[in-house]
Amino acid sequence: MDCLFCKIAEQEIPAHTIFEDEVVKCFLDINPDSNGHLLIIPKKHFVELDDIDENTVLHIFQISQQMKKLLATKLNYDGLKIVQNNGVLQEVKHFHIHLIPYYKEEKPLQSLPEIAEILTK
Ligand code: 5GP
Ligand code: ZN
Repeated sequence: MDCLFCKIAEQEIPAHTIFEDEVVKCFLDINPDSNGHLLIIPKKHFVELDDIDENTVLHIFQISQQMKKLLATKLNYDGLKIVQNNGVLQEVKHFHIHLIPYYKEEKPLQSLPEIAEILTK
């Protein structure tokens, strides 16, 4: 299947991976809204929220909680937005959750390798 995020899941296309297990992969958005903008995907191909089986949804949200804690600890954000686009709002048609940190004081964007280093060390 010609799907960008399937290729990232299968490591055919590189990404700055922050966490992965057999079900999910969490990696930095290539065009971040803020430092630490993270995407969480199931490794299996699903398109929209209601396409996914219950166990996988539960696991994705459990990992989202863990990633939220990691971002809070390592990047000390002031707020965090969770976005999940469907239909015409969705650019990449492989289910994903955005975790987007918010900082009261606007900070310059750091490079993805720098952010990956902070989140994984
Ligand atoms: P959507 O609008 O589908 O919810 O968001 C897709 C997101 O995927 C966008 O924020 C975009 O920057 C990100 N993205 C698109 N292509 C790539 C890529 O090749 N690598 C990574 N890491 N993110 C990507
Ligand atoms: Zn896919």
